[in-house]
Amino acid sequence: MYLEISNLRKKFGSFTALSGVNLAVEKDEFISLLGPSGSGKSTLLRLIAGLEQPTEGRILIDGEDVTRLPPYKRGIAMVFQDFLLFPHMTVRENLNFPLRMLKMSAAEREERIDWCCGILSLTELKDRYPNQLSGGQQQRVALGRGLVCRPKVLLLDEPLANLDRELRRDMEIEIRRYQVQLGIPFVYVTHNQEEALSMSDRIAVVNKGGIEDFADKSTIYSHPKTRFIAQFVGRSNVFTGPVLTSPSGGKSIEWQGIQVPLGPNASVGSPESATAYIKIEDTLIEADDGTPGPGKIAGKLRDVIFRGQYAEYLVNLPNGAEIVASSIDSSTRVSPGDNVLISWDVDRLDVFSDAVRP
Ligand code: ADP
Ligand code: MG
Repeated sequence: MYLEISNLRKKFGSFTALSGVNLAVEKDEFISLLGPSGSGKSTLLRLIAGLEQPTEGRILIDGEDVTRLPPYKRGIAMVFQDFLLFPHMTVRENLNFPLRMLKMSAAEREERIDWCCGILSLTELKDRYPNQLSGGQQQRVALGRGLVCRPKVLLLDEPLANLDRELRRDMEIEIRRYQVQLGIPFVYVTHNQEEALSMSDRIAVVNKGGIEDFADKSTIYSHPKTRFIAQFVGRSNVFTGPVLTSPSGGKSIEWQGIQVPLGPNASVGSPESATAYIKIEDTLIEADDGTPGPGKIAGKLRDVIFRGQYAEYLVNLPNGAEIVASSIDSSTRVSPGDNVLISWDVDRLDVFSDAVRP
């Protein structure tokens, strides 16, 4: 493994910001640290960069233990949300700045700057000042300030958070392309799941100073290992209640008076209480033809919200709850006020045991 973090722990005074963090990243990988604000993502990045010292644990880069090395000896670069460009320096001078610290000859520095501008499509903009650049161009210069030193690892802390949505999408693709081109690991911090899902090979979900799971993105999305991940990644309908087992062995959750069928593989049983999550795109809506089959829940369509490529159907259930469905057969026509049926493939449910009922 190219970047190895073992048993990392960080305390600020009596507050434990991170504990038991293990991560192993390969040389050609793009990984994201995805988690809510305050979960410890930036702290982890700052520890890798050497801007903070861990209370416990080790960090290895390319086989070398860098835990006690100062930042500039780690071969790491970091890109931040605020571009931190020098306003009185041109693009060329901004890129030259970190190189001057490296005691390179002027010719070598010029070569590096050209290389970097080539990769980032900044060649035509080299003599401009930051206020003569668009937001996306400024962000590319900020990336360049990291890449120009040819780091072994690039760390990015919410670098796109200040850009508008359209530009962010373009930059996501560009950043991923740079990573592939350079063949070094990128560790990308974000609280935005779409960003993490679109760019990463693997995602580490960070919560309350620990890593809930570190897995390829499709696993994180489709097979959440923990309840937190099920809640945080994607959009789901949530059902909580006691588990019932019918005489024939079929399980369901009794959710506010509605029986929510579970699959045979759900690893819960009565008398437990459990919570099941189903993604809205796995929640199917049909017109109610008066013969609800087994496993289908009747409701009334309240509203339809068009989201462009898909629509969300808001369905009121007899127990007063609301469900969102966004899977629909293309031939189905339903309008607000119609009686509808909701169902899903029970294998798609993510079921977590709550506490055993007294
Ligand atoms: P994130 O980047 O996921 O939003 P941070 O890593 O910035 O989260 O912060 C994680 C937790 O550690 C927060 O509760 C934050 O207040 C705390 N923290 C971060 N840096 C310091 C510090 N220098 N001193 C004290 N507490 C800190
Ligand atoms: Mg942060």
